[in-house]
Amino acid sequence: MKKIYVFLFIILISSCEKESDNVIPDEFKFNLNVHNSLNSSWQNEFGIIMDNLNQLIPVQAHNYLYELDVYAWNDNVSSPYKSEIGDYSGACICGNDKRIFMVLEIPNDEFTWNSMHRFSVVAHEYFHVYQMSLSKEFYDGNIELKWLSEGTAASFESLYIQQFYSNNYFLEAQTEVDISAINNTKIYEKFSSSSTVDRNYSSSVFIALALVKELQKLGKSEEESFKLIYKDFWEKNPTDNNWKNKFQEVFGISVDMFYNELLNYSANINDVLPSETLKIENIFND
Ligand SMILES: [Zn+2]
Repeated sequence: MKKIYVFLFIILISSCEKESDNVIPDEFKFNLNVHNSLNSSWQNEFGIIMDNLNQLIPVQAHNYLYELDVYAWNDNVSSPYKSEIGDYSGACICGNDKRIFMVLEIPNDEFTWNSMHRFSVVAHEYFHVYQMSLSKEFYDGNIELKWLSEGTAASFESLYIQQFYSNNYFLEAQTEVDISAINNTKIYEKFSSSSTVDRNYSSSVFIALALVKELQKLGKSEEESFKLIYKDFWEKNPTDNNWKNKFQEVFGISVDMFYNELLNYSANINDVLPSETLKIENIFND
């Protein structure tokens, strides 16, 4: 009898140990790898932006995603992290089945021309990580819906720049809205069918901002409307197969009705700009 107790005790201990191996950390962790090809002023600003974002839209740790390696460098050096991430370049959340990471290759031209993109890109890619923490289906790549997945990340980066640098990045970089955004919106559900008409995601941003305007017409405040597209929709964990139902559920308007409403707009970013006084913390406070 005693032997059995000892045996059970050992099983209990070992299963506890196994359990503790799988414990999810309370806080999401970004492991920052910032190459010295980026000057100290960018590095300082990068630290500030990451701190701000961690405050504004903290990424929740889940068993499928609780940390992320970040690799940042200036494109005047070639692939300094090649041994860790291979040939990835540009800016992305990328990788493979086994591992994903954030790549921030900052073009040196952006320093030469003082482009806000060298900072806004951080907010954009961070937002995608936030989206992944809200929606496992998005993390798993089971929803494309480009105009909303990129339209949210790209409009969020502009809201960030507007709030922290008093600079209207919508007007600096997202003005090239194509007419198809209003009369053939469906093509923006896929990357492949809209790649030539969505420069810097201008058209996707336009559609996402138009949805915010439509939600306001339905009686929501501007902050509530942004929260619906930035947070609530993704929390419904939509997929390519069910997103139209979730869309109706969250926004109270069908996809077809929304696309139809877009015909009343002109394809002009000025018609859908958010207020310049909008504060990100007021979107996400709940
Ligand atoms: Zn993106």
